[in-house]
Amino acid sequence: MDWEAIGQEAVQLLSEFIKVETTNPPGNEYRATDFLGRIFEKENIPFQTFESDPGRKSIYARLNGDGSKRPLILLSHSDVVPVDREYWSVDPFGGVIKDGYIWGRGALDMKNIGIAELVAFLTLHRQKTPLKRDIILLNTADEEAGGRMGAGWMTENHPELFDGAEFLINESGKGRMENGTALYSVDITEKTPCWVRLRAAGEPGHGSRPKSNSSVNRLVRALGRVLEYTPPLKVTAAVETYFKGIAHLQKGSRRGQFQDIRAAVNDPAFLADLSLSSQYAAVLRNTVSVTMMQGSSKINIIPQIATAELDCRLLPGEEPSLFIEELRKVIDDDAIAIEPILTFGNGASPFESDFVSAVETVVSRHHKSVHVVPNILSGFTDSHFFRDLGVQCYGFSPFILPDNDLRGIHGNDERISVENMKRGPKVLFEIVEVLNR
Ligand SMILES: [Zn+2]
Repeated sequence: MDWEAIGQEAVQLLSEFIKVETTNPPGNEYRATDFLGRIFEKENIPFQTFESDPGRKSIYARLNGDGSKRPLILLSHSDVVPVDREYWSVDPFGGVIKDGYIWGRGALDMKNIGIAELVAFLTLHRQKTPLKRDIILLNTADEEAGGRMGAGWMTENHPELFDGAEFLINESGKGRMENGTALYSVDITEKTPCWVRLRAAGEPGHGSRPKSNSSVNRLVRALGRVLEYTPPLKVTAAVETYFKGIAHLQKGSRRGQFQDIRAAVNDPAFLADLSLSSQYAAVLRNTVSVTMMQGSSKINIIPQIATAELDCRLLPGEEPSLFIEELRKVIDDDAIAIEPILTFGNGASPFESDFVSAVETVVSRHHKSVHVVPNILSGFTDSHFFRDLGVQCYGFSPFILPDNDLRGIHGNDERISVENMKRGPKVLFEIVEVLNR
C-alpha cells in the first residue's frame, strides 16, 4: 500500500474540507455533506444524507462485512465554532498549507479526524479488504451546539442505522510525547452537563427604597450558599479505572495511592494535594460554576425577577434530577425556582476492551515506547447519544499533538502538522484491521 500517496491525499482533502465553511451557528452542514457525498459518488460507495432542519445535514455510509463481528462506527462532526478573524494570521477558511502545517478552523476540531476516518474508510473500500464487521462512517451536524440537530437527531430518528454496533471512535482523545514516550489517552466516559437557571422572584420597586427580600438579594444569598457548598466526594467505578490506569505514570507514593484511590482519598493531605489539579478535582466530584447573572436593566429599578445560570457537571452515572434536588436543599428558598436548561445521562465504556487492545497493538508499532491510558473527559461530546444505544464509545485521536498546537482548538490559528495528517489515516486503518481479525 502506498501510504505516502494516501497521506498526501489526506492532507489535500483536509485543506479542501476546511474551505467548506460550516460555522455553527448557523451550521450550513449541507455544504459538508455535499463535499463528502461527491467523494462517495466518485468511489461508488452508497450513502444516505439526513436533514434534521433546513441546511442541517448529516451523512452516513457503510461498508459491509460478513457479519461475524458487530459493526464499528467512525464518528465525526462537520460543524466548527466561529472565528475571530482579526486574531488569525491566515484565512481561517482558506485551507492554507504552509510551514509544514495545514491551517484553518476545524484543523483540530474535528475536520482532521473526520478526514482521517474518511481516508481510512476509502482505503478499506479501495483495497476490497474482507471485513468481519460492517464499518459505518457517520459525519454529523451541530456537535458544537450540543448535537441535538445532528447525532441526537440521528440516534432518535434512525437508531436502526446503528443496530448492534459494538464500538464507536469519536473525538477528544489525546496523543502527546512525554520524555520520549508516546502517551495516548482514550476517553472512556465524560462528565454530564447539568445546566440550570435559578430564577428568583421578589417585589419590584425603586432603588432608592431598598427591599431586603428583593429578587436580586435573594439570588445573591442563594448563590452565596451554592458557593459555600462542596459536593461530596464520589469514587465511581470509572473513576477507579481512570486512576488505576494512570498509576504507573506517577512518581513515589502516588503510584500506590492511584492504584487504590478509594482508600487513598481518606487521607485529607493526599486529597487536598490531588484537588490542586483541576482535572483530578473534576473527576472526584460533581462541580458547579456560576457563569451568568442578570438583574435589572436599569440602575435605579429593583427588578421583579433576577436570574443566574449554573454550569454544573456531574460524574458519569449520576442522576441529574437527584443533583437538582440536592441543589434545592442547598439554596433553601422557595422563592427561587431551578429550571433545567440542558442535561442528560452518560454511561461509561470499559477500558478493558478489544478496542483499547487494538489501539495498544497499533500505536506500539508507531513508537519505541508508548503508554495507552484511560481518561474521563470533563467536557462532553456526542458520544453519550451512542452510549445510550449500548455502543462502547471511545474518544481516540491518532495524532501526536504538542501543547502549543492544542491552543488552536476553539482558538486562533488552529492548525495540524502535515506529518500528523499523513499518519492519522494509517493508524485508524490499522486499528480497524486489528479489530477485523
Ligand atoms: Zn469537536
